[in-house]
Amino acid sequence: MQFLKFDIFEDRVLNAMTFRHGGVSEGVFESLNLGLDVGDRDENVAENYRRICSELGIPMDKLCVAHQEHTDKVLRVDEGAGFESPFSGIDGFMTDKVGIPLVVRYADCQGVLYYDPVKNVVAAVHSGWRGNTKNIIGKAVSQMVREYSCDPADILVGVGPSLCGKCAEFSDPYRELPEFMHKYIGGGGGDGGASNRHVDLWQCAFDQLVDAGVLPSHIEMLRRCTLCENDQFFSFRGAKNEGFEKSGHMAGVVMI
Ligand SMILES: [Zn+2]
Repeated sequence: MQFLKFDIFEDRVLNAMTFRHGGVSEGVFESLNLGLDVGDRDENVAENYRRICSELGIPMDKLCVAHQEHTDKVLRVDEGAGFESPFSGIDGFMTDKVGIPLVVRYADCQGVLYYDPVKNVVAAVHSGWRGNTKNIIGKAVSQMVREYSCDPADILVGVGPSLCGKCAEFSDPYRELPEFMHKYIGGGGGDGGASNRHVDLWQCAFDQLVDAGVLPSHIEMLRRCTLCENDQFFSFRGAKNEGFEKSGHMAGVVMI
């Protein structure tokens, strides 16, 4: 089983982003689906969680997992409850406790991991485009400051695979997105493929982090697109193109 890791964390915290391979799920969920209520068989999802926990050496009964409802809420946790007891009403976690794995799931949305090596605090956030409109990515930084007295200039951030500026397509982004996001319309690509229906959510996430006080040199964007690389990653848009209403989910994990 392979994982993506962020160089910026320099192995000082456990961090991993899964690919879609290495699990037991079938069909549109082939094969390492970590989605909770996407229609996959429970026993397959459980086996997939067992496999990543075993590979990464993380305690399965302490996993912090959320239903993820496109909120801007990040929960401070001291204890996890396992993937079968997901938290509700939030889209992210933060902790300063050792050995508590924080999990975010995503298919085309952004999975964002945070680490403050000074205060020894980690966070994990799920942000789809609705999350961008509410700025959960920046609010997580403010909340680390409030809850743990972090200095934003100390915080290191990794942004996982998600839709690129040529694949994040809207019906009418000028109507669907708030005005502050209109500058990202056009996809930011400049090298063909993007139109005025495409939005550069990667740049939006980067700007939201910088606006929250994170140093640009402390942000690592993987710049891997879930749809362009649908053979490597689950993509909701990719599944939809093939006639499915659901797709599997990858997971990002960070643990002190
Ligand atoms: Zn793409």
